[in-house]
Amino acid sequence: MSDSNLMEKIVSLCKRRGFLFPGSEIYGGLAGTYDYGPMGVLLKENVERIWRELFRDGRDDIYGVDAAILMNPKVWEASGHTATFADPLVVCAECKRRFRADQLDDPSVCPECSGALSEPKPFNMMFATKAGVAEDESATVYLRPETAGGIFVNYKNVMDSVHPKLPFGIAQIGKAFRNEIAPRDFIFRLRELSQMEVEYFVAPAAWEKAFEEWRETMHAYARALALPDEKLHELEVPQDDLAHYSKRTIDFEFDYPFGRKELWGLAYRTDFDLSAHMERSSASFEYLDEETKEKFVPHVIEPSLGVDRTVLAVLASAYREDELGGETRTYLTLAPKVAPVKAMVSPLLKNKPELVEKAREVRAVLRAALPGAVIAWDDNGNIGKRYRRQDEIGTPFCVTVDFDTLGEKPEFANTVTLRDRDTGAQERLSVPDVAGRIRAALA
Ligand code: ATP
Repeated sequence: MSDSNLMEKIVSLCKRRGFLFPGSEIYGGLAGTYDYGPMGVLLKENVERIWRELFRDGRDDIYGVDAAILMNPKVWEASGHTATFADPLVVCAECKRRFRADQLDDPSVCPECSGALSEPKPFNMMFATKAGVAEDESATVYLRPETAGGIFVNYKNVMDSVHPKLPFGIAQIGKAFRNEIAPRDFIFRLRELSQMEVEYFVAPAAWEKAFEEWRETMHAYARALALPDEKLHELEVPQDDLAHYSKRTIDFEFDYPFGRKELWGLAYRTDFDLSAHMERSSASFEYLDEETKEKFVPHVIEPSLGVDRTVLAVLASAYREDELGGETRTYLTLAPKVAPVKAMVSPLLKNKPELVEKAREVRAVLRAALPGAVIAWDDNGNIGKRYRRQDEIGTPFCVTVDFDTLGEKPEFANTVTLRDRDTGAQERLSVPDVAGRIRAALA
């Protein structure tokens, strides 16, 4: 399968099976937006939940916030976004198309019509809107271009409400908006995206140790998502290419079907943000170390992860086609923790009430035994078709109730078949054993 072919297949599966739909599709779409469908919502929630476990809730030193998307424009002046959050825009003199100069092989020639391109001009990527009824400049506010801003402005609120000692961090998952010149590659480059960010505050001398710890946590996250190790690469960003706030950045790049591209970033932001907000606001962010009696503005390590790019990496890693039982099938080898549906329960035949009743009972037992796990029901079509449908959305287990479950063969009474997604192998187990097997896979 060629890589462009693979991308087409992933996009098509996402639409067909309810993972992702083009935004505003019935009106021809809106570039740079996608909507998560029923399966996509579950997958995305799992990607976020595993992040929360590793980056926030499994630790004692991280606190959550959920800040407003609309923020006082002074936030973005202080952070430097108003002045410098820009990509180089070039416009074709012939066809008038617009491109990002740094994404072109030759930034002087139009890749569409070979016309001459303009000199690159910085194009600010923040989305502006108006707050309130006034129409003048004073009403301009921006949709946040990164979630970090909402964390920095709440540094003191968190300090004053939970009184943490350094080092500690503030974590947030939420939407961010960037008016990308050229949104592309499905959900890789969006105009409306979700980010999972931690700002981790440390004493200036402690930044390197914290940087290494978060680097390891990011690898642990990649392993938890079952992203193949050989597709993940660290790129030490050269000094000249660093963002205006960073002293050191590692890009975690991923081999997507369309090439090796940034998946996540890990940045040492120094005291840039807190100092900038201190200068422009009335807040003091100075920290007093009670042992050394030293006063300083904390420095920051920032693991910044895009939800959508993570979802795409997960889907691209999991997509498979093979021959099973003489048929070609498509399946997703999603880690059980990531899979939208954990198991599907099914009566062998739909028109046998005793099978349906028993299967419903089995499903209820599994739901009660596995709180929070989505246990689906499917009695449509023949059993082979039901298995294929679950394979396509990456459901790791299928549970079937048949006549043996009802005692036709006494030695199998109250057992069900458990089918494995990847091998198609089936075995007979008691319902508590099935619950145990699924629980172990989710651990
Ligand atoms: P790029 O160089 O690809 O434009 P960036 O370096 O500007 O990305 P950051 O500002 O470091 O990205 O944002 C942190 C994370 O947010 C990225 O690693 C990525 O996962 C995600 N992200 C950034 N821009 C987008 C986008 N337009 N669409 C989807 N995710 C994005």
